[in-house]
Amino acid sequence: MIEKIKLIEDKAIRALDSIKNLKELELFKVEILGKKGELTSVMKSLMNVKAENRPLIGKLVNESKEKILEKLTSVESHLVTEFKRAKLKKERVDISLPGKKVETACEHILTQTMREIRDIFMGMGFEVVDGPEIESVYNNFDALNISKSHPSRSTQDTFYISEDSLLRTQTSGMQIRYMKEVEPPLRMISIGKVYRPDFDVTHTPMFHQIEGLMVGENVSFANLKSILRTFSEKLFSQANVRFRPHYFPFTEPSAEMDIECGICKGKGCRSCKHTGWLEILGCGMVHPNVLKEVGIDPNKYQGFAFGMGVERVAMLKNKISDLRLFFDNDIRFLKQFK
Ligand SMILES: [Zn+2]
Repeated sequence: MIEKIKLIEDKAIRALDSIKNLKELELFKVEILGKKGELTSVMKSLMNVKAENRPLIGKLVNESKEKILEKLTSVESHLVTEFKRAKLKKERVDISLPGKKVETACEHILTQTMREIRDIFMGMGFEVVDGPEIESVYNNFDALNISKSHPSRSTQDTFYISEDSLLRTQTSGMQIRYMKEVEPPLRMISIGKVYRPDFDVTHTPMFHQIEGLMVGENVSFANLKSILRTFSEKLFSQANVRFRPHYFPFTEPSAEMDIECGICKGKGCRSCKHTGWLEILGCGMVHPNVLKEVGIDPNKYQGFAFGMGVERVAMLKNKISDLRLFFDNDIRFLKQFK
């Protein structure tokens, strides 16, 4: 019995010395120390040993087991270290490899333009307000002094939803909504989508407009010119502007503002159709009928309003020739404005 124990111990120690990896170590554990392992069966056979010899044999078995376990622990810790080292070596990161390029998105050029315009007017004390794209015929036409027979009301120029509602054809309806809620003096701009049934190089069925309004007791055409010149200076770096008389039903007098062509410096070129000027926006003093409609006394208050197309501004500022490019979602086009 004593010899058998010694034999198992020697065999186990030798086996441990030749173990090369963790898998072999697991097998060894089962073979020697497992439920059916050699050492375990010796422990079990103690039952058959004479009672007076049992303590001695038991002590020997335990000592052997201790020795084997000690050796096993040291072999195991060595193998684990080796395993980790090999794994790290295999998974080493080659920092000289070129990185993977991550595509980043950018703000749409129209969003950028709207933000720029909005920031300029906010800097001059204008409140930014938002309104619905489905508008009443009243806010879009009637309240803005647009006569019942005006051509812009026809189905050729307007998407009607019902007899009294439509997809707004201009952001001007926001003037009415705002003035009905806010007492003068007031300054506001509204930016948003508008809809008209047109589609060619310079028209899309949906485009963006910016509407501006300022009403107060001493607001004059001089204020209008000053505010819009400042706007042009900030957005286009162009202080040379001119106002041409024009007609809009909701303003009187009305004008269109042009800025000097930045390409030819006013000499005339293809971009400005040889006029030296580029049309930017429509504007004018708010028509007394519009003020009356919203309950503001035109004898006490005056105001001016202006409106412009965001796409047109973005086209002029960035020398883009086709309006439809804005909505094609061609990433190569959009990326140029990162
Ligand atoms: Zn020009």
